[in-house]
Amino acid sequence: MSLTAENKKLIFDSIRDINDFPKEGIVFKDITTLLNNKEAYQVLMNHLEERYKTYDLDYVAGIDSRGFIFGAALADRLGIGFVPVRKKGKLPATTVCEKYELEYGFDEVEIHLDAFCNKENAKVLMIDDLIATGGTANAAAKLIKNVKADLVEVCFLLNLKFLEGDKRVEEHAPVYSVLDI
Ligand code: AMP
Repeated sequence: MSLTAENKKLIFDSIRDINDFPKEGIVFKDITTLLNNKEAYQVLMNHLEERYKTYDLDYVAGIDSRGFIFGAALADRLGIGFVPVRKKGKLPATTVCEKYELEYGFDEVEIHLDAFCNKENAKVLMIDDLIATGGTANAAAKLIKNVKADLVEVCFLLNLKFLEGDKRVEEHAPVYSVLDI
């Protein structure tokens, strides 16, 4: 089920732009003003629940850290498990990691080796708040496939379409974004 234009606008208007954060030239999309807006947050979560309840998913995987907020709430609504994909050095048990390039330098994301309880082909939806260059989501998608899960779809609240990050991620799974910018 797709969102009405009115509900899209409600969600879009609830997200605040912060100029020059974390550095000059970046327009940071601040979703804290969506989360504290009970109408916008509920409309978004109702939409995600409606979309994914027919996917027969086993897990939702959220990307550190805003992907945890939407991912954990969605997993609970769907009655399934939640798995965090974290920045390097945060997960305590044995992990698999994937390095990716940033504008300057590198970063790494990790997942627990047994994140999907060693169930092969577990059906997983990956989620994050925003896709920009796609570097983070691309690395996270590789991790999910490395631990032998079936990455069914990748979902973003916001897609900065002009950066074409979605094209990188589509090599792994279909991409769905609630709002394209
Ligand atoms: P990327 O790897 O370039 O696709 O960047 C995606 C990650 O960085 C996501 O986890 C986002 O939360 C964060 N991010 C990148 N650009 C922005 C932005 N303009 N506003 C808010 N978050 C951003």
